[in-house]
Amino acid sequence: MTNSSEELRSPKAAAEDGIKSLSHSVSKSPVVSARPKVPGRQAIALISAHGDPAAELGKEEAGGQNIYVRRVGEALAKLGWQVDMFTRKTRAEDPEIVEHSPYCRTIRLVAGPEEFVPRDQLFQYLPEFAQTFQKFQSKAGSHYPLVHTNYWISAWVGMRLREASNIQLIHTYHSLGAVKYQSIAQVPAIAETRLSVEQEILEQANCIVATSPQEQDTLRQLVSQKGNIEVIPCGTDIENFHSIPKAEARARLGLSPNEAIVLYVGRLDPRKGIDTLVRACALLKDEGEKNGAASSGSQTVIPRSALRLVIVGGSDPDHIDGIERERIKQIVEQEGIADRTLFTGQVGHDLLPLYYTAADVCVIPSDYEPFGLVAIEAMACGTPVVASDVGGLKFTVIPEETGILVPPHDPVGFAQAIERILTDEIWTMKLRRQASARVQQNFSWSEVAARLSNLYRRLLAQSITHELLWETPAVANPALESPVVIEPAEIAEPAATQTVLTSPLTKVS
Ligand code: UDP
Repeated sequence: MTNSSEELRSPKAAAEDGIKSLSHSVSKSPVVSARPKVPGRQAIALISAHGDPAAELGKEEAGGQNIYVRRVGEALAKLGWQVDMFTRKTRAEDPEIVEHSPYCRTIRLVAGPEEFVPRDQLFQYLPEFAQTFQKFQSKAGSHYPLVHTNYWISAWVGMRLREASNIQLIHTYHSLGAVKYQSIAQVPAIAETRLSVEQEILEQANCIVATSPQEQDTLRQLVSQKGNIEVIPCGTDIENFHSIPKAEARARLGLSPNEAIVLYVGRLDPRKGIDTLVRACALLKDEGEKNGAASSGSQTVIPRSALRLVIVGGSDPDHIDGIERERIKQIVEQEGIADRTLFTGQVGHDLLPLYYTAADVCVIPSDYEPFGLVAIEAMACGTPVVASDVGGLKFTVIPEETGILVPPHDPVGFAQAIERILTDEIWTMKLRRQASARVQQNFSWSEVAARLSNLYRRLLAQSITHELLWETPAVANPALESPVVIEPAEIAEPAATQTVLTSPLTKVS
């Protein structure tokens, strides 16, 4: 008995399925996988059309989504799935396939120019992306019965794929137009399309994965009451992000042992609120200078005059992050803290634990975060967090236990919170311990992947039982459809998941 649906259909039938759904042909052939089918493994597709899972992180449009897809993909592969992650090829020199592990790879599809295109301008290339995906699938003689899409752009692709064949469609938003457009002055031309795709996917996907209860509430309040939502948080690599002695981290980074280090990590984007953090640090500096030696009566552990603001995140001139970097530099100069501020540029996950551990406090002053990976990375390293009281940060940061939450756009509030952490040594030690324990217990990628794996298996099982016992699939154009028939026993049973394929009456909760 085989374990993957494609084994049950001839490669020719699979190829015909894919090609038939194309309304017009594409100019460039997609890459064709040389990878043999892996017996015992169920192939699934993760789609992240604009966020390349193999990309360098921390630059424009390469942040939390890229890392989420990559780490989830790798962890799912460890649990027994065969994971293909699809993204748009943005540089001619990039390889078309990147193998991350024997059962997990990034596949870059050509759709539109092989160059960076801002995500708000990508919609026009999505039909080509969907066609290239279908061609890849059919040439490889495979079929993915389950597709997990990321961000609304990929949701559109997923919905087109589902019109063409019988797949289970799962979606993670990463960011919501309905929230984003509340806080920007000039709404882009694509806004209406985005809002309608975000509503459609909520109402039509087999399941939405919200990364925090706050995101789930927001979806219900701002998008739709219909559709299935399951809360499964983001994770972090707790083997990589863990605490090491602060003095050692500082020595390795060439940072002074005597400064109070306030850290920002993330993309340089106006919605990340870095200007609020700069103004907050300027207030601290003023306090320090005002008090000077007179502050001896306070509990100051590190003189505030020795404040160091470290801003980690990459930028390219002429891109949004390059423009934001220039804007922030100007504010840093206006506020008189240029000599106290260090822009490191992009830093990889190999060195980031050193930065988190070297810092006294990590600040996340965003306007909004659906989740906010940086918060759990910092906490995993035992670094207290001061974050905006918004979105997923309300879920990950426990006020007074692992950090402090402050209203966004409030430099005074941020300054007070940072000061508390810098000055109350005993309380801060408690925060450090609790922050790291919270992440270990709740946010490891393996835990997150086990929950996703469980969800996938339930949905695949439900689709099979539904299809075999209750329903002949209603197909808009039967000629285009070759129904996928998988027997329950043929779905891989990834290790460490609990769900048992039992009665066909088993309901997905
Ligand atoms: N990041 C990085 N290097 C940098 C800046 C950021 O690796 O120089 C990573 C950071 O460690 C985190 C991700 O980018 O994993 C940012 O994710 P988050 O959810 O905080 O923000 P998003 O980018 O999704 O808005």
